[in-house]
Amino acid sequence: MKPYKNKINRIRSFALALVFIGFVIMYAGIFFRSHPTIMLIFMLLGVLAIIGSTGVYAWIGMVSMRAVPVVCPNCERHTKVLGRVDMCMHCNEPLTLDRSLEGKEFSEDFNKKTQT
Ligand SMILES: [Zn+2]
Repeated sequence: MKPYKNKINRIRSFALALVFIGFVIMYAGIFFRSHPTIMLIFMLLGVLAIIGSTGVYAWIGMVSMRAVPVVCPNCERHTKVLGRVDMCMHCNEPLTLDRSLEGKEFSEDFNKKTQT
């Protein structure tokens, strides 16, 4: 496995984890049935996590509109590139939109540097 993942996929799995965490928190609240206040706090936290994940999903929608759709040269499937360098969603092939970076070893630092 290569150490990097496609950014959109990474955000998506974060949103999914947030939903899961929300349900776990709410489930934990059930154990405090005898303390309605604590149970209410757990329920609220769980709902907040789920609302947060909805926000993250909306953010993915916006982000993927800005991302550039490309056909991966490695697996020939459609993927989206976010930033100057990103990974293919399907095969984790490093992709770049910047010709000057072509052939260089992949590094996430390319997204931070402001080279011209
Ligand atoms: Zn690919």
